[in-house]
Amino acid sequence: MTQLAQESGNCPLCGTATSHLVLIKDDYPLVRCTGCSLIYVCPMPTPEAIRAHYQDPAYFAGAAEQGYADYDAMQKALAPHFARRLAVLARALPQRGRLLDVGCAAGFFLQQARADGWQIAGVELAREMADQAAARLQIPIARTLAELGPGQFDAITLWEVIEHVPDPVAFLQALAARLQPGGVLMLSTPNTAHWQAQRAPEQWISYRPPAHLIYFTQPTLCAAVGRANLDVQQVWPTFPLPPIPMWVQPLSRPLAAKLGSGELEPGRAWQAGLWLWRSVRVGAWGWQRIAHPRDDIFATLELLARRPPAG
Ligand SMILES: [Zn+2]
Repeated sequence: MTQLAQESGNCPLCGTATSHLVLIKDDYPLVRCTGCSLIYVCPMPTPEAIRAHYQDPAYFAGAAEQGYADYDAMQKALAPHFARRLAVLARALPQRGRLLDVGCAAGFFLQQARADGWQIAGVELAREMADQAAARLQIPIARTLAELGPGQFDAITLWEVIEHVPDPVAFLQALAARLQPGGVLMLSTPNTAHWQAQRAPEQWISYRPPAHLIYFTQPTLCAAVGRANLDVQQVWPTFPLPPIPMWVQPLSRPLAAKLGSGELEPGRAWQAGLWLWRSVRVGAWGWQRIAHPRDDIFATLELLARRPPAG
């Protein structure tokens, strides 16, 4: 933890040149900035290497640990989370308007947003996903922000995207320029204050270079959004992930798969399994409150920011 990283690459958030090594994951050094505590991959992969990573079809389908196990099967599981986020957006902008989802993948969120009354647009770097979203939504999906064409939006969303971007401040600034004055930006990202990221970093599921390049906590996320001249309205943690005993994990996998695809049948055995699983989670959480009362158990951060109104 005391080792200084190579001098190549200043902190993408505050520009400080010195950092401590946190972990080497799959040959990528992850370092913590001595100035602002941001954790980031150092040195950053080249833009060419990053682009190539997302053109691999295995990123979204197949067994690749780097991406998503089977994105289609996730639609049902994601729906309630997207509905909750749409409710937050609706409170911030009751009149709705134009919404841009950046990193829209197969378009599941945009599909729900349109049903909720928004006029939708999407950006997706991965070609296969962009094609899927375009077919699903019957709208053109831009590959990059630059390809999107002119125009501003009332709301911009990015779900689990900002951690993939090597220069998050410049990226947020570009998004802020695409927001109407008074428009809102809402995002989610892994919470690197989570106990596992801090105490057992080699096990933390979201230390995933080169997909994830920047690892935020509430303070560093707010700082990045603030540097894009957006006013943070609210930032909150979600998805509790307490320490589950190792021996339970293989037993819970079939149940998790059923829950993930939203296909848990009403049979007694599955329902009993579900309640047992919930009890294990509550028990693990209770034990953690006693053993490590300062642990942060939330796996994800969500944030809502607003572009200051004109004048
Ligand atoms: Zn820094």
